[in-house]
Amino acid sequence: MTFSIASLGSGSRGNAFLVEGDDTRILVDAGFSGRQLARRLDILEVDPESIDAVVVTHEHRDHSGGIGVGARRWGWALKMSSRTRRACTTLLRGQETCDDLPVSGIRIGALEIAPVPTCHDAVDPVAVVVRHVPSDLRAGIATDLGRATTPVRQALRGCAFLVLEANHDERLLREGSYPWGVKQRIGGSRGHLSNRLAAELARELAHPRLGGILLAHLSHECNDPDLALDRVGQGLLPKRYDGVLAAAAQDEPSERYQIDELVNARTSGPQLSLFT
Ligand SMILES: [Zn+2]
Ligand SMILES: [Zn+2]
Repeated sequence: MTFSIASLGSGSRGNAFLVEGDDTRILVDAGFSGRQLARRLDILEVDPESIDAVVVTHEHRDHSGGIGVGARRWGWALKMSSRTRRACTTLLRGQETCDDLPVSGIRIGALEIAPVPTCHDAVDPVAVVVRHVPSDLRAGIATDLGRATTPVRQALRGCAFLVLEANHDERLLREGSYPWGVKQRIGGSRGHLSNRLAAELARELAHPRLGGILLAHLSHECNDPDLALDRVGQGLLPKRYDGVLAAAAQDEPSERYQIDELVNARTSGPQLSLFT
């Protein structure tokens, strides 16, 4: 029984996450070219044809760019809301298998996928919670959200692994070279989550069975992995969190995080007294 997650790459130039539960393999988003998807899956030793489905969080091309080619070339079944599908029409030719992703969620093999509406400037954006049915462990993937709304925070509570957006450092965004309108969009409530808000969210969501936090969608211009990790690490100090804390890169896949093993490592290790 295995449950794992890996980033194929994350940032404004493309996003995709591989989630595997026993013999079931899905991608959450496929925002790279066919060539890049094949290259990145090959690094993770995954045959593209073994992917069962792609859950599409929203129509922005850094999340959806490769869904059409993946569906046609490798037979990927696409799962997304009807409004997102309409916004992706130019990527599709009508020959792809494309199913609705209802708010009540869907089951694909060993995995159950539940979409959670987010606050972002797309037609019907969602975060995704994937439950590995045999172990009842859940992984939450939440990027592209200006603010973590109450439904998002509730859905991510108790997850065994979290992919959280840490898009920008607020000072670097303020002082950077983007035009005023772009800064407003990125920093606004329908834009992207800052390191400060990611740190607050991570602190709120950390619990003793949380195996890992992977920071994602880091801005190339207004962030830096060390800065994001430091900020979120500081936020986690009161929670004495000792699970994985890493940042997803744009150009290369991450390692494959074995969620069940990470949870076991945290719950079965030597228990430190709170008073030492
Ligand atoms: Zn994005
Ligand atoms: Zn977006």
